[in-house]
Amino acid sequence: MKIFIDGHDYQYEMESLVRMFFHGKSLPVQQGVPDVENDYIYTKAIRHANSTELMVTVKLGGELKNANDTVQNDLQEYNAECERVFAVMLYRILTPMTGIQLKWGVLTGIRPVKFVHRFHEQGLSDEEIRRILTEKYLVSQQKINLMMETARREAQVLRLSKPNSYSLYISIPFCPTRCLYCSFVSHSIEKTKKLMPEYVELLIREIEYTAEVLRSIDGLQLETIYFGGGTPTSLTAEQLRQVMDAVNRCFDCSSVREYTVEAGRPDTITEEKLCVLKEYGATRISINPQTMNDSVLNAIGRKHTTQQTIDAFWLARKTGHTNINMDLIAGLPTDTVESFRSTLDEVIKLNPENITLHTLSVKRAATLADEAEEVYRAQSATVTQMLEYASQSFHAAAYHPYYLYRQKNTVDNMENVGYCKEGCEGLYNVYIMDETHSIVALGAGAVSKLKEPNGELINRVFNYKYPYEYISRFDEILARKNKIAEFYATHPFECK
Ligand code: SF4
Repeated sequence: MKIFIDGHDYQYEMESLVRMFFHGKSLPVQQGVPDVENDYIYTKAIRHANSTELMVTVKLGGELKNANDTVQNDLQEYNAECERVFAVMLYRILTPMTGIQLKWGVLTGIRPVKFVHRFHEQGLSDEEIRRILTEKYLVSQQKINLMMETARREAQVLRLSKPNSYSLYISIPFCPTRCLYCSFVSHSIEKTKKLMPEYVELLIREIEYTAEVLRSIDGLQLETIYFGGGTPTSLTAEQLRQVMDAVNRCFDCSSVREYTVEAGRPDTITEEKLCVLKEYGATRISINPQTMNDSVLNAIGRKHTTQQTIDAFWLARKTGHTNINMDLIAGLPTDTVESFRSTLDEVIKLNPENITLHTLSVKRAATLADEAEEVYRAQSATVTQMLEYASQSFHAAAYHPYYLYRQKNTVDNMENVGYCKEGCEGLYNVYIMDETHSIVALGAGAVSKLKEPNGELINRVFNYKYPYEYISRFDEILARKNKIAEFYATHPFECK
């Protein structure tokens, strides 16, 4: 199956939508007119004096269907409207042809909630937004409800951020073993253990230098700190102490509202490390089971048990951690609806403050990539049921959705949602997803995103990806940190 583009530039949007109907299939895109022998999707635009004619033809398994529509040329959001109209025509043709219903309709972006915020800024009421999402974007009522509730809670968090706010991200790109679905730059401890002492030493130097650069920008205010990875608790207790001490020593943390450390894998968590996190100011930690089924854990290459997750959770409570997040994934290989339900029930029973529910997404770099199509096929009917059960269970246990994003290539095209108990929203999660303010990111693979105060411009500053590059090209990384001061010199904020 090929996608043909004729007379327009909406290749990316066409491909994104069509992919949702043909998971894991090769879908080359080319300019021009199709060869009538083979299956194809043909999208054509003809621009006339006042309007543009849009046409779609699909040939699939011998069946041929087409549709057409027009868009006025003087529309303010002309390109967005052409993309939407093309997408709606494709959706209406492909749904009956493939039997696949997309609960997100023709929305393909990774931040659906931004739609709601944008409509609110334009002065639209909830009722009008719901109507637009239903009629123009064909989104299901269930997903509209999720979007609206998430947007409402997200808005409360967004209001806390000011033009001079920023967050700090620290990357610890090491894990005990690599999970089969992971495409993240994360090296197993066995292979890279020897790099860890030097990595920690340089990371502390990067923290010191970056803090100095930030101090030269009058009025910047640190809102949240986030240690992610990888698995930050792959470091020893002493290494964690050194890195967290450097953060506290070098940055003004008096304005910090949230300090998260993703402890992550239960097999790296010890009482000593949990005490260090508490002592050095972490206010929120993650202990991530992904599943509470030992055979599924084994199938995805996580070398820990459900009991280790439970023990780590109670150890965290014992050491005084009062805000714990637990990550779960729906659609894992070999998991079933039954087993997912019991995972969810067990995690809710533990009563953590946050539960983040992801849908499996296998990227090309993952070990599982070769089997992705098979996994998607096996899990495709079940993920929707898993998510529906989750939504009901969360509601019954007083967990609310507060952030939401979508990734490409998820099973059933489903989403990732952060749920929390009242008042326990993970602030950093909202800020990074909404691109609310600057994120200054340190460590291997970290990408700083410098956000224009009161504007939409974002400048990215990249660190090298792998720990060995981070170490060997460290001087370049330090030099790049000066770009933060240069950015704020040309994009100042009003300091009140
Ligand atoms: S713990 Fe997370 S970062 Fe580490 S290998 Fe597993 S999925 Fe990747």
